[in-house]
Amino acid sequence: MQCNISRTFCSLALLATSMLSAQQDVHRKPHVAFTRTLTVGTSTLQVDFADGLLDLPRTAITDRIQQAVHAVSLYYGRFPVSRARILILPTANRDLHGTTWGDREGFPAFLILHIGQSVTREELTSDWIITHELVHTALPSLPDDQHWLEEGIASYVEPIARVQAGEMPPESIWADMLRGMINGEPERGDHGLNNTHTWGRTYWGGALFCLVADIEIRRQTHNRLGLQDALRAILRSGGTIDKEWPIAQVLAIGDTATGTHVLQQMYARWSTAPVPVDLPQLWRQLGIRSTNNTITFDPAAPDSAIRAAITRPGAAEF
Ligand SMILES: [Zn+2]
Repeated sequence: MQCNISRTFCSLALLATSMLSAQQDVHRKPHVAFTRTLTVGTSTLQVDFADGLLDLPRTAITDRIQQAVHAVSLYYGRFPVSRARILILPTANRDLHGTTWGDREGFPAFLILHIGQSVTREELTSDWIITHELVHTALPSLPDDQHWLEEGIASYVEPIARVQAGEMPPESIWADMLRGMINGEPERGDHGLNNTHTWGRTYWGGALFCLVADIEIRRQTHNRLGLQDALRAILRSGGTIDKEWPIAQVLAIGDTATGTHVLQQMYARWSTAPVPVDLPQLWRQLGIRSTNNTITFDPAAPDSAIRAAITRPGAAEF
């Protein structure tokens, strides 16, 4: 899965170019100069550094990977796959981007991370790419028309997992959502998420689907359960990136876990027709205010408890 939610990449042309280079990378089989094995619970991650220069010590990069592994494991209750290989490809620029495949090179999950030689410690600390890529391992591969759900879940879960792990305060992700979710709204000529393969609808449209589903599950369960519980159940059922499942199976497992029909009912509407969301009203109900680019929370808002529950860590399972 080639991931381009980046604020700097925003065109399908770029996406197509990146996908081509990702296919070339996976067949190139670069020489590995250094390997470090990470463990979390019963899972093993083989981190391979290909030849190439990096200004930062390799331990800075493996420490950041370990931190991202921890955040994803905390969100899902365990690390999603038993074994994964992460191949670091140093590049000459200051880039940082990634691609994830299922069932490659003898591993259930295989990630390639391009890390620019001059990437700084600060850029690595604020990185979201590695977490986003690891979240991809926790969902079966879906047909191309539902690629938006793969990217939507990765885009929605990544910042929440990082807040739950204490990497950043909740205000920062709501600020990002206030700025970004508008990109996920249907525009003129939209034919639903399955049929509108634009950057905005794929990444932010998918994330908007997840946010609305999370809120609705929490409303229907008196805030006892949320999308996190549905996603954990899909993972517990064996739904990882190395499997190919129809979306109906994924959504049914998620809904059974929460005792609702939210995912299946929303999918029926959102997949084939434009469904606009009244975002200003949604932020008001969650109690999120933005004044001079500063986010504050209104504890008296009707869905204030739901907002707080979304970023509260779930129970550990490992
Ligand atoms: Zn992605």
